[in-house]
Amino acid sequence: MSLIAFDFDGTLSDSEMTVLLAKRAGVADEVAEITERAMNDELSYAESLYQRAELLGGLDEDEVAAAFDEVALRPDAGELIERLQAEGHHVAVLTGGFERGVERALAKEGVEADTIVANRLPTAGGTLTGDAEGPLIEGTKDDALAELADDLGIPMAETVAVGDGANDLPMLEVAGLAIGFAPKDAVRPVCDDVVDSMFRLGKVLEGYDILPAE
Ligand SMILES: [Mg+2]
Repeated sequence: MSLIAFDFDGTLSDSEMTVLLAKRAGVADEVAEITERAMNDELSYAESLYQRAELLGGLDEDEVAAAFDEVALRPDAGELIERLQAEGHHVAVLTGGFERGVERALAKEGVEADTIVANRLPTAGGTLTGDAEGPLIEGTKDDALAELADDLGIPMAETVAVGDGANDLPMLEVAGLAIGFAPKDAVRPVCDDVVDSMFRLGKVLEGYDILPAE
């Protein structure tokens, strides 16, 4: 059994949740710029998330729910998750994005992750407070992956990390196998393999005997 840890925004999904929320809050350009700087490692992830959450402050709960409803998995992602689980692997989503959006997107494809480690945007009085909370703001994905592997009794050598952005660097560096999904320039050097579709990812995992050949 292996532990396969996926990033969400930009990896399992081609959307960035904060961008979907930002469109509804009328701050899309500002948020996209902050996201881009963080993904290229020009701004710390924690700082970028707090800045984006602050811009989203005051957004109505109904708009938040509608934005999370728009979050979708990439083509073939749901099927790949099912194939991994059918082989007995543990599928985890480790994301700086938000739990509700991840859950909505997985449910739409009729799949579930075995573990989701994600952040939250708190609400008060029917609107976003402008704050953000959760284990992957100050916390990093290498620790989240190591902790989960330890809980499951899986050696780090048997872990696979799949990600695209600078906040994935720590988990890509410690995982047994590091796969970049259309990775940003700062991420590419630490990847053992790079793919640009879930179909290709399936093929790469077949190559490492993590999935049987189809
Ligand atoms: Mg990402």
